[in-house]
Amino acid sequence: MTENINGVLVFVEMVDNQPVELGLEMLGLARRISDSHGGTVTAVVFGTNLEGVGDNLIAYGADQVLINDNVIFDNFHAEAWLPDLSKIVAEVAPAIVLIGHSLSGTDLAPRLAFRLDIDVATGCESIEIVNGRPHMTRSCFGGLAREVVTFNKTPAVATIRSKTQQALTPMMERAGEFKFVSSILDLNSLRSRVIKREREKTVGVKLESAKIVISGGLGLGGPEGFNTLNEIAELVDGAVGASRAACDLDWCPRSYQVGLTGRTVAPELYLAVGISGASHHMAGCGNAKTIVSINSDPAAAIFKSSRFGIVGNCQEVMPALVEEIKKLKA
Ligand SMILES: Cc1cc2nc3c(=O)[nH]c(=O)nc-3n(C[C@H](O)[C@H](O)[C@H](O)COP(=O)(O)OP(=O)(O)OC[C@H]3O[C@@H](n4cnc5c(N)ncnc54)[C@H](O)[C@@H]3O)c2cc1C
Repeated sequence: MTENINGVLVFVEMVDNQPVELGLEMLGLARRISDSHGGTVTAVVFGTNLEGVGDNLIAYGADQVLINDNVIFDNFHAEAWLPDLSKIVAEVAPAIVLIGHSLSGTDLAPRLAFRLDIDVATGCESIEIVNGRPHMTRSCFGGLAREVVTFNKTPAVATIRSKTQQALTPMMERAGEFKFVSSILDLNSLRSRVIKREREKTVGVKLESAKIVISGGLGLGGPEGFNTLNEIAELVDGAVGASRAACDLDWCPRSYQVGLTGRTVAPELYLAVGISGASHHMAGCGNAKTIVSINSDPAAAIFKSSRFGIVGNCQEVMPALVEEIKKLKA
């Protein structure tokens, strides 16, 4: 059976007219698949003011870039984006459509699959082509196990978790072509409309791109514990994360949540403070280079995944840590 496939289409989300990192990571994956198994890499972008994005995405591995430059696509609206994306996928007919496992991507991907009557696999961490069929690996049972799934037919849709793929080093001399496509959207056909949109303010480094992440859990004892985490983050130019339990109690914004149902991070250093290390949490930070944890329970599961562990009350350890960092910085 041939190992070759029909190519890969990557839907690249834009924020502030720039491709999101996950889009570039998926292009790296698509390029690697195409280099080994044939077919072209098509990048699709929706938005406005997208001049320059074509060359940029070609540099990151696309063979062709289809740009739908329309004011309707400035902000995410699944229902509005679906007719155009469906049409493009049907025309390009790739073997796989890659969409980011982001809030918008996980909304869009199943709709696209339903609309085109094709299969979808969400939360994928890697893709191998075996006998011409994509095999996706992803977490299951709350991160305790991994499963490999495949599709019965192509095209099929896969959402890809951030930080599981490596973006290519951009090569501006890479050859490719880009073209603008026109929208087929009939505004009158929309059954929902966006009334208001508020972007959460992020101060400092973005969680997913931070080299150092300091995360807090229930062991912090209350929302004020996050003040110290913020102080440490500011000192080390890091970002603050949290367990779902801490977010559920409103000790910090929901956007801080790291884990299976939160964000995936892969920093150089992940400092886990008062977090037990449930598999659901570790699914979002297990790829960190070094995990250091502070926990009062010597039997806490988090210590099994940590390179360094401090057994102690975080209320005592954290102020001492802040002092040490300040001394080192001075
Ligand atoms: C479908 C599903 C999806 C989920 N997705 C996520 C997810 O994305 N992210 C996530 O985080 N969770 C997720 N969860 C929840 C997850 O299973 C755990 O319940 C959660 O991670 C626990 O949070 P925690 O570690 O802060 O709290 P706990 O498990 O209560 O742990 C608190 C820890 O703090 C320690 N501690 C207590 N006092 C101190 C002190 N003074 N100093 C130091 N340490 C102290 C304790 O020893 C304990 O280990 C999910 C659950 C389900 C069912």
